Amino acid sequence: MADKMAFQADVNKMLDIVINSLYSEKQIFLRELISNASDACDKLKYLALTSPDIAKESGAFKIIIKPDEKENTLTISDNGIGMNKDDLIKHLGTIAKSGTADFVKNVADNGSACELIGQFGVGFYSAFMVAEKVEITTKKAGEDKAWTWVSNGVDGFEITEAKKDKNGTDIKLFLKKDEKNYVDTIYLRHIIRTYSDHIAYPIVLDLGKAGEENVNSGSALWTRNKGEITEEQYNEFYRHVSHNFDDPWMTLHFKVEGNIEYTGLLFIPEKAPYDLFQPDKKNSLKLYINKVYISDKIEDLIPNYLRFVKGIIDSADLPLNISREMLQFSPLMEKIKAGTVSRLLKELKKRAKNYDDYMKFWQNFGIVLKEGIYEDFKNREEIAEISYFHSTNDKVRLTSLDEYISRCNKDQKTIYYITGDDINILRNNPQLDAFKQKGIEVLLMNEPIDEFWPQVLPNYKGYAIKHVAQADADMSWKRDEKKADEGSLAKLCEKMAELLKSEVGKVTATEKLTTSPVSLTVENGQMSLHLERLMRNHQQQTAFASTRILEINPYHPLIIRLSEMIDDKANEDKIAEITKILLDQAKVAEGEAVSDPAFYAEKISQYILKDIA
Ligand code: ADP
Ligand code: MG
Repeated sequence: MADKMAFQADVNKMLDIVINSLYSEKQIFLRELISNASDACDKLKYLALTSPDIAKESGAFKIIIKPDEKENTLTISDNGIGMNKDDLIKHLGTIAKSGTADFVKNVADNGSACELIGQFGVGFYSAFMVAEKVEITTKKAGEDKAWTWVSNGVDGFEITEAKKDKNGTDIKLFLKKDEKNYVDTIYLRHIIRTYSDHIAYPIVLDLGKAGEENVNSGSALWTRNKGEITEEQYNEFYRHVSHNFDDPWMTLHFKVEGNIEYTGLLFIPEKAPYDLFQPDKKNSLKLYINKVYISDKIEDLIPNYLRFVKGIIDSADLPLNISREMLQFSPLMEKIKAGTVSRLLKELKKRAKNYDDYMKFWQNFGIVLKEGIYEDFKNREEIAEISYFHSTNDKVRLTSLDEYISRCNKDQKTIYYITGDDINILRNNPQLDAFKQKGIEVLLMNEPIDEFWPQVLPNYKGYAIKHVAQADADMSWKRDEKKADEGSLAKLCEKMAELLKSEVGKVTATEKLTTSPVSLTVENGQMSLHLERLMRNHQQQTAFASTRILEINPYHPLIIRLSEMIDDKANEDKIAEITKILLDQAKVAEGEAVSDPAFYAEKISQYILKDIA
């Protein structure tokens, strides 16, 4: 009795894209199916650690590729874990992983299904790029019944009970008429070597009467010597473990010997993945214990701020007899993690010497790496050392902290920075007036994490790191311009403070401003305005909002004029109106919205009109 079932709606949408588009890289279907076969062998190998009986019928693991020219079919077989009926329905009828809707949307937008198919965990369906029908016969290890799953990729699928002696899965592709090259052994050999050479199990080409032929090297790539591995093999392995389609920006293959021995083969992608900032994004390093695949969900194998690193760690010293969940509490894991982090950081430091090259990395992952300054107590200086920032000094290149220091004059013992939403708005922030005047460089920071890491790294190589708002005292200089009268100025501040009391805590005269009449800042040591905005955007409470200070410039003609008007009662309304406009101006310069845009716009027009009338 056949069970007819429909695909989940998402699967249908995806299949529709896969089948109806013409892709130039169709041959990757074979990589995906071999990769699944290899995963299936990994799973059984792992199970067999604790229940050896379960794998006894399968013999040595291998993957067999059998072309049939007459039938125009290609069969990929493995003796791995296999699937029961529930597995078939669950894994090959629905898409469980989150992000599938993203896949459909991404492909619809960019039309690059080949690139995305592996990344989204929908590799199996790529079979329908070349096959008009797929027939799977499979038996799960340790179970009696076998099953056949058949589908044309359009009208759902059918499952019937089947006969199969041994555990494992045969995937038979009935190739489309114009896909005859996938029964050609020369071509098959070529694509297997290109895409799947690194697979740790033998991949065998079944040539019928001519016998079987081993096509790949069949040993785990990371166990081979560096000198014997070509760049292309590394890259292909990277694509396999990362499900990416690009080349790695960095490849790091190392062996640690001594107390604990382990091997790492790690990569940093050239491109940022679509989900780098999704809250549930976890690291995806694969952990092996003595070549047995354990899991890619071991928390804490690598810190979160290195979550973009792909690849594998293999250690023979980790205990095989404890559960995956318990592994992360093994003290050895802590050592492996520390060692791996320090290798990665060292390598990044080397690469940072070449600015252009390093920027390719920094533009993608710098914002994530910087989280490490905040999170990684032990390595924070090292991470700061390889971090780059915008600066008032140089409009094009980003600068490192060391480069900043090298440009400081010898009295300056502080690295100054300012935070805000937008680098270009920041450049013109009035808070920088005095720094410009004195020729002091300021780092411009616009990422949320920039609000946090300086709090835990108040000093770097003997230099204090300070927000410009905390720099008051250092920033006055002798000025001989005309200045508002002290007495009237004090009265003006008091008046303005009273008028604005619902919005600012204080109005003070400052020596810091040059061209701007006013500027907004916060009380020393309080949360910056940028951080306040970030919190508000994330609907976090701002009950502990900072005390805002409106600073006024006693050298500015506008402020001088206002202070002259302050004693005459007749000016009261005018002063009130201008005070409101000045606060709005300060907000605009800070990159904030004004509280009453219509009022602001109307007043500005009126004043402009007075000027040109
Ligand atoms: P992914 O491999 O990323 O999970 P796929 O679409 O390639 O996504 O495969 C979907 C699922 O189908 C796999 O996770 C696995 O559970 C199952 N599967 C596919 N091929 C095999 C196979 N040869 N043996 C056992 N299970 C398989
Ligand atoms: Mg897969």
